[in-house]
Amino acid sequence: MTNEFLPFSKPTIDQATIDEVVSCLKSGWITTGPRVQKFASMLKEYLGAKHALPLLSGTAGLQLSLMSLNLKPEDEVIVPAFTFIASANTVVHAGAKPVFVDVDLATRNITAELIEPAITKKTRAIMPVHFAGLSVDLDPIYALAKKYNLRVIEDAAQAIGATYKNKKIGSFGDTQVFSFHPNKNMTTGEGGCVTTSDDELAHQVEILRFHGIDRTDAWNRFSKSGSQHYDVSVAGFKYNMMDIQAALGLHQLPKLDEFNQRRTQLACRYLEKLKNWPQFDLPEDPTHYAHVHIWHLFNPLLNLEQARMTRDIFLEKMKDKNIGIGFHYDAVHLFSYYQKTFGYEAGDFPNTENIASRIMSLPLFPTMTESIQDHVIDTMQTVFEEALMHA
Ligand SMILES: *Cc1c(COP(=O)(O)O)cnc(C)c1O
Repeated sequence: MTNEFLPFSKPTIDQATIDEVVSCLKSGWITTGPRVQKFASMLKEYLGAKHALPLLSGTAGLQLSLMSLNLKPEDEVIVPAFTFIASANTVVHAGAKPVFVDVDLATRNITAELIEPAITKKTRAIMPVHFAGLSVDLDPIYALAKKYNLRVIEDAAQAIGATYKNKKIGSFGDTQVFSFHPNKNMTTGEGGCVTTSDDELAHQVEILRFHGIDRTDAWNRFSKSGSQHYDVSVAGFKYNMMDIQAALGLHQLPKLDEFNQRRTQLACRYLEKLKNWPQFDLPEDPTHYAHVHIWHLFNPLLNLEQARMTRDIFLEKMKDKNIGIGFHYDAVHLFSYYQKTFGYEAGDFPNTENIASRIMSLPLFPTMTESIQDHVIDTMQTVFEEALMHA
């Protein structure tokens, strides 16, 4: 084994991708233009979406989707307490109140049963998060949305290519937001996209992402065919994706299924090799609905007693042995801003707090070889054995 530090995640960038970025740079057009347009239509086709709108980031997508709902300060949006902070922050940015709910201990996902008691007269939307690339059980959540007249913004940042009941996330339902951050299953550097079946929401996101300029071909004003004038119908943002980013995406998307299959092979290998380890609780796939898990992350929970150390100490010990284990995530309701602003406290969401104190993300990326994976497993074994020896 080499002595190089092994990160928990690494993007796969081939020569064709690098060449495309270079062509883009040499073309004279590097911001939003023809490559973004092409990437948008490829996304639409791959996902089977009615609308697909590329953006600067997944976070921008969450914010603009929520802003398109015209939320008022007293309006509530239901968000899992166990998620990346952007899910909650963007509700605040959209001018509404995030209301947290707990997640299921085995799947780490939100469920309709956990959501329904949190619905009030002020609830306007639900934000299910497909954690680690495992689809949430969506049908019961869409049934709740129908019953209480709520919108659904799926945080699908980790779920591009995942399916629910044989349908791709993004091809059905209300609105979805994907991320192309370098750690995600495909990347555009930074980047994201909104998919939706709602024409009006798509139009709002389109306007909001580029200054509120009320025309879809604003970039055309730099070309021979465009006019120099435009109207501004709302004070918008600057969240457009660049052609340099889309150049990456044009070569990532065609390889996404291959990337996801390789992640799945490696995840299944982890599941098999770690299944009898008393130190870990492994992630469990739900059996009551068909789905394709894309294994954005592989996260066991540490059994603190069996491991004889805390999760953070385990991460430190692995880092000392040159292996990066990721950590996703702290409980959102316990960040000081959310405690201070909305009055949440420790004990509010037991499953989330339990998961957050024990979870870790083992190294997993498409170019990881079996021998590197075996090295990770052997090193974990060594760390546990050393702890036993010193006990
Ligand atoms: C990555 C991620 C985001 C944010 O996406 P960015 O593209 O980094 O802005 C939001 N929610 C979840 C669950 C994520 O994993």
